Amino acid sequence: MDPRFINTIPSLRYDDDKCDDEYAFVKALCMSGGDGANSYSANSRLQKKVLSMAKPVLVRNTEEMMMNLDFPTYIKVAELGCSSGQNSFLAIFEIINTINVLCQHVNKNSPEIDCCLNDLPENDFNTTFKFVPFFNKELMITNKSSCFVYGAPGSFYSRLFSRNSLHLIHSSYALHWLSKVPEKLENNKGNLYITSSSPQSAYKAYLNQFQKDFIMFLRLRSEEIVSNGRMVLTFIGRNTLNDPLYRDCCHFWTLLSNSLRDLVFEGLVSESKLDAFNMPFYDPNVQELKEVIQKEGSFEINELESHGFDLGHYYEEDDFEAGRNEANGIRAVSEPMLIAHFGEEIIDTLFDKYAYHVTQHANCRNKTTVSLVVSLTKK
Ligand code: SAH
Repeated sequence: MDPRFINTIPSLRYDDDKCDDEYAFVKALCMSGGDGANSYSANSRLQKKVLSMAKPVLVRNTEEMMMNLDFPTYIKVAELGCSSGQNSFLAIFEIINTINVLCQHVNKNSPEIDCCLNDLPENDFNTTFKFVPFFNKELMITNKSSCFVYGAPGSFYSRLFSRNSLHLIHSSYALHWLSKVPEKLENNKGNLYITSSSPQSAYKAYLNQFQKDFIMFLRLRSEEIVSNGRMVLTFIGRNTLNDPLYRDCCHFWTLLSNSLRDLVFEGLVSESKLDAFNMPFYDPNVQELKEVIQKEGSFEINELESHGFDLGHYYEEDDFEAGRNEANGIRAVSEPMLIAHFGEEIIDTLFDKYAYHVTQHANCRNKTTVSLVVSLTKK
């Protein structure tokens, strides 16, 4: 139905606040679906590496959860921000395998396990669910077990599960996405995120939105998880404690801002269109994360680690390949929002520019972006 038509019917008029209308592209937030060349499924090697980096924390917390809960006969696991493709199955596999190996070790029967895969409703769940038969086959071969996989579409900034029902919650590379673009973002023109040239007010606006969102997330999960249940969360974060505005010259959003500015210069994008585009994203440091968790108060921090992983040049190929790979990785996570705001026509050119900018920063070595892994116990 033509939205202009809906808007003529008073009772169906969209009543979202001004800010939601202003940043309507946020409603398109999801990773590129399918399994084609530009899909998230085909361009999430880095996220896969991050999952293997966090594996020891996940295994340790799964074991401790089982022991502290005295080996329940039924376990419900939530995987939040599962996206499309196979990555989430790597994490679920580790969880189920850990539970089974531990149960065998102490001579207990393995529990029945429900695994709920969550993401926003726009996510391409079909591409994910196609892996379920392979996944269960692999589980059967490895430890003669299986699990029941379910979809839980919805925002993790809302209630997703019934009260006291979850034993283990895992989320990798999803919680740096905010529920919305912060309000009161002023004087940050030409940048789609915080850069070294942004005003302090941009940092304050982003930090404030992150705190609100993450507190909400913790509160909601604390209602859904059983006492002594565990959460393992991995974020894109930063390792700078002093200058809150500092981001590398080759930070992925800085390079995307630069690429969009090239298109403004060439007359393909208007300046006002670029100024109206800001990422609903925040990369906290360890202190900021700790502060929110302590303030909210429902969870005890078991461990909080920072690892030197970065969306930038982790690939070993030559500069050109590295540029192309990084451009594809960033395209897979931002394309739906970029299309919603700028239109489809600019996308190929935009990421050619991006790949070029990456090659111009091939020698940058000091990276401020890192992965933060935190494990929590429900008090
Ligand atoms: N965990 C996967 C996917 C990471 S991509 C992996 O490791 O590869 C991040 C995912 O988080 C995206 O699919 C995005 O749609 C999802 N996401 C972002 N905000 C969300 C929200 N509020 N609620 C649920 N999912 C969200």
